[in-house]
Amino acid sequence: MPKVTPPSDLPRGFDLLNDPLLNKGTAFLPNEREAFGLVGLLPEQVESIDLQLARVEGHLDQKTTDLARYVFLNAVFSENETLFFHTLMSDPARYMPLVYTPTVGEACQKYGHILRRPEGLYLGVNQRGRIKEILRHWPQPDIRFIVVTDGERILGLGDLGAGGMGIPIGKLNLYTACAGVPPRHTLPVTLDVGTNNEELLRDPLYHGIRQPRVTGEAYFEFVDEFVWAVQEVFPDCCIQFEDFANVHAVPLLAKYRDQVCCYNDDIQGTASVALAGLFGCLRITGGKLSDQVFLFAGAGSAGTGIADLIAQAIVAHEGLPLEEARRRCWLFDVNGLLTTDRTDLADFQRPFAHDHAPAATLLQAVQALRPSAIIGVSTVPKLFSEEVIRAMAAHHERPIIFPYSNPTSRSECTAQEAYTWTDGRAVFASGSPFGPVTLNGRRFVPGQGNNVYIFPAMGLAIYATKARRVPDRLFIRCAEAVAEQVTPQDLEEGLIYPPMADIFATSVRAATRVAELIFEEGLAQVEKPADLDAFIQSKLFRPEYVEWDV
Ligand code: NAD
Repeated sequence: MPKVTPPSDLPRGFDLLNDPLLNKGTAFLPNEREAFGLVGLLPEQVESIDLQLARVEGHLDQKTTDLARYVFLNAVFSENETLFFHTLMSDPARYMPLVYTPTVGEACQKYGHILRRPEGLYLGVNQRGRIKEILRHWPQPDIRFIVVTDGERILGLGDLGAGGMGIPIGKLNLYTACAGVPPRHTLPVTLDVGTNNEELLRDPLYHGIRQPRVTGEAYFEFVDEFVWAVQEVFPDCCIQFEDFANVHAVPLLAKYRDQVCCYNDDIQGTASVALAGLFGCLRITGGKLSDQVFLFAGAGSAGTGIADLIAQAIVAHEGLPLEEARRRCWLFDVNGLLTTDRTDLADFQRPFAHDHAPAATLLQAVQALRPSAIIGVSTVPKLFSEEVIRAMAAHHERPIIFPYSNPTSRSECTAQEAYTWTDGRAVFASGSPFGPVTLNGRRFVPGQGNNVYIFPAMGLAIYATKARRVPDRLFIRCAEAVAEQVTPQDLEEGLIYPPMADIFATSVRAATRVAELIFEEGLAQVEKPADLDAFIQSKLFRPEYVEWDV
C-alpha cells in the first residue's frame, strides 16, 4: 500500500487508539508511534495484521459458545474496524454465521444483557420532531447506506424491540465483508417505537423504550420523519428496510420506493435470490422461464414476492404480457390452491389466483398442474412428502425442488429426501443449509438460497453509482449476474448458486452487472466511467492498514 500523508486533524495518543476507524493497535509502526504520541501506550512488539488475526482466532478458539464469539468479535469491531473486517474477509463462509444468522438471533434476544459499548443509532419515537438533529450526532458525515429496523419481526423470532439492533449491525457487516462496501459510509439504525414483548418489558436490563408499540398513523408519521430527515442530512444515502412486520413492510416499500432510494431485502432480496436459483436451474434443465410451471407452497410475503419477480422477469426478457406471465405461477396456501373463486384472498394474492378446479392438498395440486418447480415458503416441515416429490419426478426428468422455509427444522423436505425420492434427478436448493449428499456413489452439493448472494452486491452497486432509485429490474439483473457465475463444474454437482467461499468475487461481479444497468437506465448520479470494472474495484473497501507518511 502506498504511504498516505496524515491529515492535520488526525487524532493523537489515546484518541487515536480509541478511534475504531483509525486504530491499528500493535500494528502502528515505530515512526508512527513517535509521530502520534503512542510510545509507551503500546507494547514493544510491532505486529502485522495477520499476526493480530492469529490472536483473534486464538481468542475465538477459547470461547465455548457462538454467542461468546459474537460478543468478542463485536468488541474487536468497536476497537479496530480494519482488524475486524480483515478477520471476516479472511473467511466469510466461516465468520458469517458468527456475526449474522444464526448467532445474531440469540444476540438480539439477549441484546440488553450483552450490550457493552452501544453501536448504531437509536431513534426513539419519543424524540419525534428531533430526528434530523439526532442523525447529525453521528460522527461520519457522508453516510451512503442505512439498514434500518423497527425490531418487530426479527428473523423468525418476532418482536425483539430495541434488541433488533443486532440485525442492521450484522447485515452492514456483511455488506462490507461480502462486497467491500466501505464501513465508514454505513449506518445501522433502530427505530425504537416500543415493544409488545412482555418478557422484554419486564427485564430490568432491557435497553429500549418501555412501552407498547406505537401503531397506526403515529407510527407511519414517525417513519416518515425518519425517511425525509435522512434525505436532508445524508442526501446520497440508500435506506434498506429490514425485519419490519409485513403489515408495515409492504406499505412502507410501496410508499417510498418511487420517492427515495430504498429497498426491502426481506421482500426484494428474497425474490431475487430465488430467481437467481431458478436461472441456475435453467442452466441445467434448459428452456426459458416461461416454459416452466411454478407451484408455490405458501402464499405469504415470500411466495407472492418471488412469484411477482418471476412474472416481471418473464415480461422483461420474453416480452409476454404480465397477465400471461403470472399464469406461470400458481400458489397453494393453508386453504388450498389459489383460484379465482376463493373469497378469502388478500389483494396482494389475487394476481396469482387463476381459473381452475379447487385442489385441497398439495399432492392434488401437483397432480393437476404438473409443475416443473415446487417452491416451499410455507414454514411447514415435511410438506414436500414422498408422494409429492415422487409425483414431481413422475412428470419431469429434472424436477426443481426448492424447500425455502427457515430454519432447517421448518424445511419442507431435506436434501437427502429430495435426491432419494427422485433417484438423484432433483435440481435442489433450500433456504437453510444442507450438507452434501451421496446417492449411489454420486455426490450432490445442495445450494442455499441465501439473500447474502444479493444484498451486498446491490449495496455496492448503489453505493458506487449513487443510484437515485432501486427498481425491481435491478434485482432481476442481480439474479442473472449471480446465476451466470455458477461454473459447469458446480452444475455437475447440482450446485445452482456459486460456492459461498467465493462470495466476495461473486458479489463484486454481480455489483458490476447491476451498476451497468443503473447507468443504462439513467439512475446513476455519477458520471459513467470508461472502465466499469476498474471503477467498481476502485470503490472497494480493503481491510488493510494505512501506512502514514511521517
Ligand atoms: P408468511 O407467514 O407470510 O406465509 C406463510 C404462508 O404459508 C401462508 O400463505 C400460509 O397460508 C401458508 N401455509 C401455512 N400452512 C400451510 C400448509 N399446510 N400448506 C400450504 N401452505 C401453508 O411467511 P413468509 O414471510 O412468506 O415466509 C415463509 C417462509 O419462507 C419462512 O420459513 C421463511 O423463513 C422463508 N423465507 C426464506 C428466505 C430465504 O431462504 N432466502 C427468505 C424469506 C423467507
